[in-house]
Amino acid sequence: MSDLNKSELLRQLPAVHEVLQAPPVAGLLAVHPRAAVTEAVRAVLDRVRRQVAAGEGLPAAGEAELLFFLVREVVKAIEREARPNLRRVINATGVVLHTNLGRAVLSAKAQQAIQMAASGYTNLELNLETGRRGSRYAAVEGIITRLTGAEAALVVNNNAAAVLLALGTLAGGKEVIVSRGQLIEIGGSFRIPDVMRQSGAVLVEVGTTNKTYPDDYRRAISERTGLLLHVHTSNYRIVGFTRETTVAELVELGREFGLPVMSDLGSGVLIDLEPFGLPGEPTVQQVVEAGADVVTFSGDKLLGGPQAGIIAGKKDLLARMKKNPLTRALRIDKFTVAALEATLRAYLDLARAAGEIPVLKMLTAGKDALEPRARELARLLAGYAGGRAEITVEQVISRVGGGALPTAELPSFAVTVRPADISAEELSRRLRKGNPAVLGRIQEDLLLLDVRTLQEGEDEPLAGAVKNALEADLGMDDDDNEQSG
Ligand SMILES: *Cc1c(COP(=O)(O)O)cnc(C)c1O
Repeated sequence: MSDLNKSELLRQLPAVHEVLQAPPVAGLLAVHPRAAVTEAVRAVLDRVRRQVAAGEGLPAAGEAELLFFLVREVVKAIEREARPNLRRVINATGVVLHTNLGRAVLSAKAQQAIQMAASGYTNLELNLETGRRGSRYAAVEGIITRLTGAEAALVVNNNAAAVLLALGTLAGGKEVIVSRGQLIEIGGSFRIPDVMRQSGAVLVEVGTTNKTYPDDYRRAISERTGLLLHVHTSNYRIVGFTRETTVAELVELGREFGLPVMSDLGSGVLIDLEPFGLPGEPTVQQVVEAGADVVTFSGDKLLGGPQAGIIAGKKDLLARMKKNPLTRALRIDKFTVAALEATLRAYLDLARAAGEIPVLKMLTAGKDALEPRARELARLLAGYAGGRAEITVEQVISRVGGGALPTAELPSFAVTVRPADISAEELSRRLRKGNPAVLGRIQEDLLLLDVRTLQEGEDEPLAGAVKNALEADLGMDDDDNEQSG
């Protein structure tokens, strides 16, 4: 294309103010800042100019068609800009505690508590009885001690922070003895040796990867020792020829030498999961009962609450932690206090907890609930997909996730989608970029949608998203792959 032709095409482009006056764009000005809309118009016009300069011609022929194209692009750009970065994802992976998807879904009561705390003032740090300053932990400490049997409790931002605070307070500048088989790494660079270094404590490894005896700890104890640490290998298992020293054995040693014993449990289970067909996890109560001086666990793993690190244990040790300036830096906000209290209250009646806490409900859902749900979703999807995909129901295995119960296999049901015109990979990519975003699992050329992790009311939006993704023409840009509204 000659330069003359190009400048002829460029002359056909409307001016910025002309695009701004076109009705749909003028409508945007009622809800979006003028500067943002003007900038979007400029950006779209610039893009078209660059395409013309590159010899690609105009995106539409004719004055009205060109304006229509530009207006549509501006509306799309503004909508994309206004869309929240953090948004709802439909989790059809079957992984209940999906760390990348925010781990635990909160109970209705916890959601209401957050809403209450967000919409007005609360007595976060005010004792309403005395009218004096109170502790933000008061709302939850009593419930934690009642549930766990511990003397005192404290809550910080997450369990990594709990471990850091406990180690730093109790063993800063001293040695902490840990079994080699328990030097865990949790996702996101939480590694026991690194956290130990950060806390100012000195790691002393004892035993071997597969076997550690009480005598290994005994031999390592000296006047430099500050703490005996037991770490629950929450996200992996060492099986076969193994021997771990139990918390109870460590407590015996600790008493003999006057040393505190800490147990990092990872997941905080308050109820026995075995009756539900899940592998037995040590409960917080059991570890407290065994005599551990300090126990740390997460709020948003198996407990099913907000992100938090709960520290329960002996009063004098907890008092030292509460005075540590680090506690102020790691403190929880009012939403966490609100959601955690509501979650913990459900556990005061154990029978209620399993029915009220979404994580427990999802983990314990059986065939009788999952199979009909999958059949219903399949029926809905088949209607929406038309001839564009083959839909079936299959038995699959769901996972707990979140670095908890790594060996647990939960028999589940999934709706499978085999697209006729595109690959399962491409379907999955489009679903991920859609609105709402949908995450499933790919198995060969099938997209599996595990119903275990679907929330109430998500079937319709999920089916709509699949329909849109199947119908989006190849080569269309990703924003065309959205549901309106
Ligand atoms: C998950 C886990 C942690 C970290 O807990 P977060 O709440 O994710 O910070 C620490 N220790 C163990 C044993 C864990 O399983």
